[in-house]
Amino acid sequence: MAETYLNNKGKYSKEYNELIEKLVPRRGEAPTQIGLLLQCCRDLYLEYYDNDNVNLYENVGSPTQIYTCHVCDGSGVDEYGCPCPYCDGKGETYEYDRCVSDEFQHCIEYINLWSILTRNDKGKQLNEHVSKLHEQLIKDTHTTDSYLVYKDLYERLIDYVMELVLDEKIELENALKMGLNNDSKREEILELEYVKRPLETKYSTLVSFLECAQNGELSPGVFYNRNLFDSKFLISDLGEEAQELWRKFNDKLCEAVRDYKTVLQQEISEIEDKIKELKR
Ligand SMILES: [Zn+2]
Repeated sequence: MAETYLNNKGKYSKEYNELIEKLVPRRGEAPTQIGLLLQCCRDLYLEYYDNDNVNLYENVGSPTQIYTCHVCDGSGVDEYGCPCPYCDGKGETYEYDRCVSDEFQHCIEYINLWSILTRNDKGKQLNEHVSKLHEQLIKDTHTTDSYLVYKDLYERLIDYVMELVLDEKIELENALKMGLNNDSKREEILELEYVKRPLETKYSTLVSFLECAQNGELSPGVFYNRNLFDSKFLISDLGEEAQELWRKFNDKLCEAVRDYKTVLQQEISEIEDKIKELKR
């Protein structure tokens, strides 16, 4: 795989990841200007890699072309008699002229603003690059097959933004002092707790399973669904041969469950550390 920021092998990946972590919240707007610059850059970059730039554009005006839906052949219903999901039951699909959506237009403009206000070589370099990227994006409002052209454009975008940012020593120092404000920290904590909750549920299911196994209680239900907890019965209810087989199976299973429990515990405590850090 090529050396990209996505696989942490970009030219300034180490510094970039660190600054994103410290200055860009997972939700909401970065509170500092450098944070916002990096956020714009990251949003454009990830829109390309994660979404193939699908959300980058929005349709304008009325349809320029109307096609009969090729999935339902224009009937608007699928094989089950439900509205065709491809054309939303309309029997037709439409083609529009597109433009860069406000959200991403704003990102490009903000990066451009920085490049103009930074009156040195780094600013000039970034300015030329952003213009190039913007031109390509406008050219592509009709086609979407320039995937490879963008790869380099987006990698260099981060290179040049990082060169500019790392050069702005005083501004960067101030931004790092401020970090994330209370609002963005709160949002981030909520997000982390949201991720943590299902992990904890899984964890306690594993604990229950191991307890049952230890007490000689059999309950596949415990493993698959905690609500079936009542369906447990004892190993001693089984015949000898079955008991022997179960013990072998159970030992292996418990081993795997313990390993998984350790992994989950690790994940949960990593999230808890992040929350603690944010609450400081
Ligand atoms: Zn259809």
